[in-house]
Amino acid sequence: MRQVLIAGNWKMNGSRSSIRELLDGVKAGAGEIKSAELAVCAPFPYLADVQEQLNGTGISWGAQNLSTEEKGAFTGEVSAAMLLDFDCKYVIVGHSERRSLYGEDDALVAKKYAVARKAGLKPIFCVGETLEERESNVTEDVVARQIDALIALEGVAALADGVIAYEPVWAIGTGKTASPEQAQAVHAFIRAKLANADAAVAEKVQILYGGSMNPANAADLLAMADIDGGLIGGASLKADDFLAIGKAAG
Ligand code: PEP
Repeated sequence: MRQVLIAGNWKMNGSRSSIRELLDGVKAGAGEIKSAELAVCAPFPYLADVQEQLNGTGISWGAQNLSTEEKGAFTGEVSAAMLLDFDCKYVIVGHSERRSLYGEDDALVAKKYAVARKAGLKPIFCVGETLEERESNVTEDVVARQIDALIALEGVAALADGVIAYEPVWAIGTGKTASPEQAQAVHAFIRAKLANADAAVAEKVQILYGGSMNPANAADLLAMADIDGGLIGGASLKADDFLAIGKAAG
């Protein structure tokens, strides 16, 4: 049985005070969530605050990006070791905003995954198609290409203890959600693709859905056989909504 993971991606939102308030709310309700693990992926400057506020609560935390470099003259970059210094468990790699706005390609995202994993972080590896790609019926090709870049670099075993987030780009921040059937079809495709290479890895890997998941649609999405949780953007900024999604996991 795969553990359900409900991970918040705060993106570039919040302040020290709003994050304190948000985490106070999440902590107050987290005890009612029985089966899901909760995690929040915070902007770098707030990791120390998040660590202090979540330490010992059972709620995990992480970052939204990392450098492929270990240290040195890389102005503006943040290394895996720095994230570990703040006890991060997770780091998002290859979010579609990083891919489209900051030019991160499949090879770089695969490298980030590898660097994070080798350092002892759990990377959340984002994949997904644009609207144009979906309408051209190449969703599976796109997702396969993104995953193949990682398999080519690290081998399929690198995914056994990792997390994939299927995030159709057209559903991120748009209020348009993939239907449970649409999402399940891609999740099943990903798991079958991995099973072709290694059945045990396919069985173990957690595949999250991301794209306008909210308290109203979470239960139906999370009920699908191959959806093992959610990567939540907008709804993770409101404690009640984030908790409601956690509760929808059952
Ligand atoms: C995301 O940014 O990963 C995301 C899923 O955002 P939203 O839930 O706002 O669509």
